[in-house]
Amino acid sequence: MIDFELSDGDNKLINEAREQATLARKYARYYDQNENIVPPRELKEAVGRPDPFEERLKMEGQISGKAMVEALLHMEFFRGDVVPLRVPKISLGNYVLESVGTPEQIEKWGKARIAIGITEPGAGSDPSRITTTAVYDKAKDEWILNGEKIFITFAEDADAVMVFARDKRDDGQLGYTSFLVEKGTPGFSVGPQVKKMGIRAEDTAGLVFQDCRVPSLNHVKADFKAVFKVFNFSRPIVAAFGLGTSRAMLDFTLEKLAEIGISPKYQSGLSCQDAISDRLAALEAEYEAARLSVLRAKWLEDQGSAVKIEASMAKAMGGMAARRITKECMEILGNFALSEAHLAEKWFRDARISDIYEGPGEVQRLMIARSLLGYSQKELR
Ligand SMILES: Cc1cc2nc3c(=O)[nH]c(=O)nc-3n(C[C@H](O)[C@H](O)[C@H](O)COP(=O)(O)OP(=O)(O)OC[C@H]3O[C@@H](n4cnc5c(N)ncnc54)[C@H](O)[C@@H]3O)c2cc1C
Repeated sequence: MIDFELSDGDNKLINEAREQATLARKYARYYDQNENIVPPRELKEAVGRPDPFEERLKMEGQISGKAMVEALLHMEFFRGDVVPLRVPKISLGNYVLESVGTPEQIEKWGKARIAIGITEPGAGSDPSRITTTAVYDKAKDEWILNGEKIFITFAEDADAVMVFARDKRDDGQLGYTSFLVEKGTPGFSVGPQVKKMGIRAEDTAGLVFQDCRVPSLNHVKADFKAVFKVFNFSRPIVAAFGLGTSRAMLDFTLEKLAEIGISPKYQSGLSCQDAISDRLAALEAEYEAARLSVLRAKWLEDQGSAVKIEASMAKAMGGMAARRITKECMEILGNFALSEAHLAEKWFRDARISDIYEGPGEVQRLMIARSLLGYSQKELR
């Protein structure tokens, strides 16, 4: 039976994350307005405080599950802001390395922060369209990379990038594979920070590879399947980001309504419920449904079960809930919410990303439909 009651261990970590999120919130507007400045890996308020993500790993037996608690912590941190007290030590490229890297590769780069570089100007939702090439130079036992990646998270701050590319196989066909490219490698450059609508504190830039040579050791043989398996774990986390922002928005809306003497009457029954209670009840229900879908995907992950479809469901529901909740709260709050004196307008902009990266809602729904109906990618696109 699935039991979502939180343990004392869960609550201890969640409370710490909530306190840290409150401390981080004071930086929210600064990094929103200064997009060219990448936040430090650790803000001064983090000193002397535990890292709840690391504590979780030491608390097996006291918590509901590593994966589930990870999602709950992200929800708390995003309730504060996009800027955390501590930037996570690893990124998506690390998961690729851990799942398919050789012991030698893991030994060498296991502690590096590794971004993931998949998206290109002509390849977003459909990554099979990537055109970055990798050509093997037998004489030097090196690979030569050429291509461009766009919208890469941690582009500036990461120590290395896991680059998804096409290589020429012995039979002349182009395959899919990956390379770990370290910062400072000749021929590898990082573009300026992208000016974004939301999550402006997040380090996002493009990458260029121009006759960029890497040794054979950097060839991490992650094919299409291996790279995209990582998203089974990270998609519910992206939904958790959006739900953290949504919770902040809902709480702010309730607080502002309370200041003018309005509090929702959820118990009054449909026949005498006022319009505002009806609207807020629908938003709370959507929030709760999406939150449970995230917890279900992460609970399955903790049980070692396959999570591909559940991860897509959580991502589709979380992304949509975040968009709808922040939009409707803006409407309920009125003109006042547009002022930069409050974070509401920022949360509205920030929430949009949870329905874009790691696959927009439309694409998640396609994947779910394909899986449930037994269609291939070619049959249903
Ligand atoms: C802030 C930010 C950070 C990012 N970080 C990274 C990163 O670290 N690494 C990385 O590799 N990428 C990253 N991305 C890229 C992100 O994963 C892509 O933006 C995303 O996959 C969507 O691709 P696209 O933007 O090219 O949109 P498109 O694929 O061009 O889609 C445009 C629209 O069409 C819809 N659509 C597309 N195909 C279909 C279809 N078959 N049926 C119905 N509708 C469809 C989409 O849902 C979307 O609404 C990031 C993007 C952003 C904005």
